[in-house]
Amino acid sequence: MENNLFKSTAGNAAERAGNKKIKNNIKNDIKNFSHTKTVSDAELENKLRPLKLTEYIGQAPIKNSIEVYIQAAKKRSEPLDHVLLYGPPGLGKTTLSIIIANEMGSNIKITSGPVLSRAADLAGILTNLQANDVLFIDEIHRLNPTVEEILYSAMEDYTLDFISGKGAGASNVRIPLKPFTLIGATTKAGNISAPLRDRFGVLGRLEPYTLEELSAIIKRNAKILNIDTDENSVLEIAKRSRGTPRVANRILKRIRDYAEVAGSSKITNEIAKNSLNIMNMDELGLDNIDRLILNAIIDKFNGGPVGVEALAASIGEDTHTVEDVYEPYLIRLGFIARSPRGRVALIGAYKHLHKKINKKMAEQLSFYEE
Ligand code: ADP
Repeated sequence: MENNLFKSTAGNAAERAGNKKIKNNIKNDIKNFSHTKTVSDAELENKLRPLKLTEYIGQAPIKNSIEVYIQAAKKRSEPLDHVLLYGPPGLGKTTLSIIIANEMGSNIKITSGPVLSRAADLAGILTNLQANDVLFIDEIHRLNPTVEEILYSAMEDYTLDFISGKGAGASNVRIPLKPFTLIGATTKAGNISAPLRDRFGVLGRLEPYTLEELSAIIKRNAKILNIDTDENSVLEIAKRSRGTPRVANRILKRIRDYAEVAGSSKITNEIAKNSLNIMNMDELGLDNIDRLILNAIIDKFNGGPVGVEALAASIGEDTHTVEDVYEPYLIRLGFIARSPRGRVALIGAYKHLHKKINKKMAEQLSFYEE
């Protein structure tokens, strides 16, 4: 019935304007899918962010250990040990950090590796921290080395150690800091230098969420956004969320737009399906860029192997975006593999895109599937 909602309401100017807005939102979402955050994304995320450990769904191993460490630190009236959280974007690293500060009854200062371009920027932040505060540095693998060095003594013995002046007049300056907790977040744990990594007492890897966990997050967030849902539509959204709460939140928001224009106060299975189709997301949650990547490997590079730079250039995407945002999910689905010589499309990708594969190639690819 709703099949062509945009066409059926095309006569009304106000609705046409509404539809245009939704389509633009969808376009922006696809563009910004899970890496860059737009202003409205940031607002939405803040609204939907759980603030207590009990509201933080899934991630049991890291959640349970953090709970114990928080209790112990509080008993000793000390800050929590430094924590390094790693995993793909949108899995809840920032959220968990905010929760940790909240549960500790501390303030949190949020910054990121690329923003801290000068040692003085970081020194300024560190000297302003109060006792037991949390400093959250997102994308910590992107800190520049001179800034990173300042962190070593700050993390180890709560002091700022640096050299003031030049030549013969240079002297070593030590400034004491208040005890604090550094929480570093990264999508690339392998890019963190050993001296920095070794100074974290707690390492936590965030895992993709199961359908049940995503469904619980979607239900909770639908309530906050005042949206009525049914079990089927929640499951439809969960299935396409790529194991990632941020993606689930975006889809939920887009579907809410669609339901509003359709004049429905409830997200039904049909509304969910139609809006997901408009977003060009297939039943596995693959979007246009995922399909471009797979098609490029298969058609332009004969199935691979192809280097990630060449692959990214061929579809006009940034290499980091392909590596950090798109590849992890495609690898998890078993659609591509990383080989020493580059990326290879696997049999699952050919099947999903309904592409032919000859016997010889299938045999070669079975090597990667093992
Ligand atoms: P990251 O820092 O890893 O990129 P965020 O912490 O910003 O991810 O998470 C994005 C959004 O996903 C949050 O605003 C929140 O609404 C939701 N979210 C993430 N993890 C959870 C969780 N475990 N339980 C409930 N919601 C979550």
